[in-house]
Amino acid sequence: MRYQIIRNEKLSILSELAASVAHEVRNPLTVVRGFIQLMGQEIRDNEQKNKDYHELVLSELDRAQDIITDYLSLAKQHYIEKENVSLTSLLYEVDQLMRSYANYKTVAIETSIEDGLMIVGDRSRLKQVFINLLKNAIEAVPDLEGQVEIRAYSSHEFVRIKLTDNGCGMSADQLQRLGEPYFTLKEKGTGLGLTVTFSIIQHHGGTIRYQSTLGGGTSVTVSLPIGALK
Ligand code: ADP
Ligand code: MG
Repeated sequence: MRYQIIRNEKLSILSELAASVAHEVRNPLTVVRGFIQLMGQEIRDNEQKNKDYHELVLSELDRAQDIITDYLSLAKQHYIEKENVSLTSLLYEVDQLMRSYANYKTVAIETSIEDGLMIVGDRSRLKQVFINLLKNAIEAVPDLEGQVEIRAYSSHEFVRIKLTDNGCGMSADQLQRLGEPYFTLKEKGTGLGLTVTFSIIQHHGGTIRYQSTLGGGTSVTVSLPIGALK
């Protein structure tokens, strides 16, 4: 009997989630559809207009992608792998990955990553944590003058990863709301990035700490227990 109850609960969570995914994804897709339709009608209109439509289509498609990625990672929270993970190589990978993203707005990314930082956990979830945090940092900094620093080192049985940016910073109220589902101050944000991030860190026995002032940049430190499977 008990088994049945748990199963039903899980099913209803799953269907609720599926319903909201469908709902959220519908909006950007509707916009895309509308613009593609317009493009078809105005094929001989001036080039610039078509270019604008094209950019909108692409950015809405990206947004749909973001929403699906964030929702699906919420849904997959329960399956956490336990494997040896080199945070050193993972962070270099994330750095590399995000540089192409940062190039859109000319951000200087500086790294100082210790060798041999090992923990036990789920590599792809952990990768997502640092993609989310680095993405937020890059999105917060001003174009051309943006600076982001990634530092990773071991200290007291923990690996500490500290990301510092010279971006817009946050008020005490905003800091309080971090991780709350759907909390976003961005026009195209999902407000799910940190919800997912906090949950993954918690599942790894880690902690996350923010220091920030409005207009004064942000630094965020993730601590994860050092470890290795035999
Ligand atoms: P999203 O990025 O989709 O808005 P997140 O959960 O990743 O959702 O972040 C929630 C909000 O937290 C952001 O909209 C932003 O206002 C704030 N935030 C997160 N990181 C930073 C940062 N490094 N600097 C300034 N604000 C931040
Ligand atoms: Mg984000």
